[in-house]
Amino acid sequence: MKHNFGAGPCILPQEVFQEAAQAVLDFNNTGLSILEISHRSKEFEEVVKETESLVRELLNVPENYSILFLQGGASQQFAMVPMNLLPEGGKAAYLDTGVWATKAAKEAKNFGQIEIVASSKDKNYTYIPKDFEVPSDAAYFHFTSNNTIYGTEVFEKPQTNVPTVVDMSSDIFSREINVSDYDLIYAGAQKNMGPAGVTLVIIKNDILGKTGRTIPTIFNYESHINAGSMYNTPPVYSIYVSMLNLRWLKAKGGVKAIEQENIIKARTLYAEIDRNPFFKGTAEVEDRSRMNVTFVMDTPELEAEFLALAKKRGLVGIKGHRSVGGFRASIYNALSITSINALVDAMREFEESHK
Ligand code: PMP
Repeated sequence: MKHNFGAGPCILPQEVFQEAAQAVLDFNNTGLSILEISHRSKEFEEVVKETESLVRELLNVPENYSILFLQGGASQQFAMVPMNLLPEGGKAAYLDTGVWATKAAKEAKNFGQIEIVASSKDKNYTYIPKDFEVPSDAAYFHFTSNNTIYGTEVFEKPQTNVPTVVDMSSDIFSREINVSDYDLIYAGAQKNMGPAGVTLVIIKNDILGKTGRTIPTIFNYESHINAGSMYNTPPVYSIYVSMLNLRWLKAKGGVKAIEQENIIKARTLYAEIDRNPFFKGTAEVEDRSRMNVTFVMDTPELEAEFLALAKKRGLVGIKGHRSVGGFRASIYNALSITSINALVDAMREFEESHK
């Protein structure tokens, strides 16, 4: 058995893989593969409709928000957000909490003035800056709710008087959120929503159409809203598999229930990191992510040895990102407590054998 701690694309439930595989051979007894049906077919229209209503239900999305399934990943949103929300000659505010936040701000600089309101770069992004002010003349404030590489997470939405945009790629559907706290939420699907290839965007309708700039049709949220995510051929299979995964989440009791599991999983792993003298966490305790657990060894020479043991135990994907080093265990929704326990057992075994 493999325990997949990969950061994304990542583990999805086994039953989702099975259903997804079946649909490649015969989708809903149509005698056709999901890969060969038209995106304009009645069957696929139903898929988009159900996926949208699952997102709406699971996240409690208010009626005045649109839900879109786009391509281009979260990285395309780094550009689409300023294109659609930053007026000509305007200013936007960004919180710098790591690589993805930096990339989002850098892309936005192509469209206007960008103010970095705070940064945790001084300590290699091991914490979330809290004391900062967002200028009231900013068109919007952007932040990243979970920093996949550094293992930090923003649990309390920063206070602002301006529209708020959030990149929730790596923690959406992992905990309850209040959608109306935000004006635009985006997330690459490939963590807790589904496979790579589709990007979820949730937008408050009335923030659009105010920039005065010409937006290429394909990058204009309004084109996609008006066409119900069918302005062009959508990522059919990625949307379908996301629908299966969201059905799974709903059957488990939804976001509220999975959040409780995620809290227990994270607590179990951090407890071992804090107890075991061979390991130490890299993120500030109060900002520790429940999705990406980053840790290192006091003796870096032993890291290769622990990785070898992990490999023997079927623990996959725990090597840390090169900018942090050590280890990163991504513990997304579909990863069970059994896998957490397998990692904890390996850490204990390592300690025992080095006493
Ligand atoms: N934002 C965050 C928080 C991410 O974790 C990632 C990718 N892991 C991205 C943005 C970039 O996403 P994509 O590869 O879908 O463009």
